[in-house]
Amino acid sequence: MQQRRKFWGWGLEGQDVSEAETNLLRHVFSSRFGLALDMLPAPRFEDFTLRAPRVTPPPSLAAKAKSDPHERLVHAYGKSFPDYVRMMERHVPAPPDLVFYPENESDVAAILDWASSCNAAVIPFGGGSSVCGGVECDAGDAYAAVVSLDMARMGRVVEIDRASRAARIEAGTYGPALEAQLKPHGLTLRHYPQSFEFSTLGGWIATRSGGHFATLYTHIDDFVEAMRVVTPRGLVETRRLPGSGAGPQPERMFIGSEGILGVITEAWMRVQDVPTFRASASVRFSNFLKGAEAVRALAQSGLNPSNCRLIDAQEALGTGAGDGSASLMVLAFESADHPQDARLARAIEIVRAHGGETEAAKAKGDSAHREGAAGAWRNAFLRAPYFREVLTPMSVIVDTFETACTWDRFPAFHAEINRRMHDVLQRVTGHAGSVTCRFTHAYPDGPAPYYTFQAPGRPGALMEQWRVIKAEANAAVVSAGGTITHHHAVGRDHRPGYQRECPPLFADALRATKRVLDPAGILNPGVLIDPEGRNVGVRGAMAGTRS
Ligand SMILES: Cc1cc2nc3c(=O)[nH]c(=O)nc-3n(C[C@H](O)[C@H](O)[C@H](O)COP(=O)(O)OP(=O)(O)OC[C@H]3O[C@@H](n4cnc5c(N)ncnc54)[C@H](O)[C@@H]3O)c2cc1C
Repeated sequence: MQQRRKFWGWGLEGQDVSEAETNLLRHVFSSRFGLALDMLPAPRFEDFTLRAPRVTPPPSLAAKAKSDPHERLVHAYGKSFPDYVRMMERHVPAPPDLVFYPENESDVAAILDWASSCNAAVIPFGGGSSVCGGVECDAGDAYAAVVSLDMARMGRVVEIDRASRAARIEAGTYGPALEAQLKPHGLTLRHYPQSFEFSTLGGWIATRSGGHFATLYTHIDDFVEAMRVVTPRGLVETRRLPGSGAGPQPERMFIGSEGILGVITEAWMRVQDVPTFRASASVRFSNFLKGAEAVRALAQSGLNPSNCRLIDAQEALGTGAGDGSASLMVLAFESADHPQDARLARAIEIVRAHGGETEAAKAKGDSAHREGAAGAWRNAFLRAPYFREVLTPMSVIVDTFETACTWDRFPAFHAEINRRMHDVLQRVTGHAGSVTCRFTHAYPDGPAPYYTFQAPGRPGALMEQWRVIKAEANAAVVSAGGTITHHHAVGRDHRPGYQRECPPLFADALRATKRVLDPAGILNPGVLIDPEGRNVGVRGAMAGTRS
């Protein structure tokens, strides 16, 4: 039998956090906060009584629909901190009434037709790894029902064009399956978000995800050559072209549309040859801002490192990659065509000129990124998603937010974010908490800083506490000059910030586009914008905060 996805936690049933890991986490966080951390009982499936489904599927789609409680629980929320808290509190008032598993485009079209006819909201679902309320099924009472549309049965690499180095891939293909199907052809998409194992191509495109490459090919956007999108009005298919100057680009309208304009069913993706030449180094900086200056110089050098992540001293310590005395830069180059030693050598000259001390400052083999400080950080990065299912019952508030701002503002921006986050953590939890930062991506005109905050929460009040902290984080990044999201998307939780960031006339144009493609307003209501004539507003985890 196929392993089921966990309704609580990351991954599949049976992929648990070990007792040793739990004890270690409890020890680390108790020492950090100077508190004993008790553990609340984790939710069990039998703890939930869900409201009865309000619709039944039409006979023609019955074989593609599920309504059992486990399926409805799995699809009720994504994987953000508030999603975990609400699940731990056994608070699931708005699960999907049904979960559809289309097998082809005709199924998708039939589901959208049926939903339009019976006023059911449709929430497109890839891997459900959204951390901003993107797949939440709370559509309010303007809808007769809510259904989740899970793309998992559309998971194939359908066609490969070796000459153009492109592949046609179904939207429900998960990261590992996608790479496994490309591998025999010597190809790779080489797009590795941290959620890679449990997220899909369609989800990446719909959210403009950020992957492996720290420079140049940061978002999924540049890998999309063409796509097919089923909207309630019909199919949109774009042409395969290496580049086109013919007016606004149709793909761009759907990249980042977060399931509100149509269901992406497949895409032609630009793929790459598997890299065989690698060179990497770890660099220590006594000061994070000095490290930031070095990242700026690298980002503006034209060297385009594949990895150029700067991790502050405290975060490096927390992941076992450093001793807490220095910020760490993980620097790497890769190519399928030529050795990278010369590029690494020039990069090392640049970082040294900015006060960086290099560790293992030489080209290494294929496994360089798995060794030393870089390897320690990589292992912690891969394991971290699993830890939320034990940290939440310990009432540890751990969340992240990511943004981007221009280099001219960065020092002031960073100081302001730290000041406001420490203030709000102190005010809400009575503890200064910890706020750490790393750069996930770097551009010639600015970095993409990623902040993690941690503080001891109050059992029973975690949602309220998180909501105040999150609203402050949203307000701080936008008012200090950053974007509300660099790659986690807008969903429901970032909508207030998005409304401040999005030019009003552009928001009108987006609403008009939605009216044309989704006249009944059934697709993912409450994400990005309200469908016309439906005041869905800010719902989900941030409900009640000002929009
Ligand atoms: C532990 C963890 C680590 C993460 N790391 C990263 C990271 O490194 N980089 C990054 O960018 N993000 C990251 N994320 C966020 C998340 O994984 C991304 O947003 C990802 O792109 C979502 O993909 P998914 O398939 O899970 O989509 P889902 O979460 O299922 O859906 C996300 C949004 O896209 C819509 N959608 C999904 N499929 C389709 C489709 N076929 N057509 C139309 N709309 C669709 C949904 O309606 C929803 O609005 C992380 C999340 C977690 C939990």
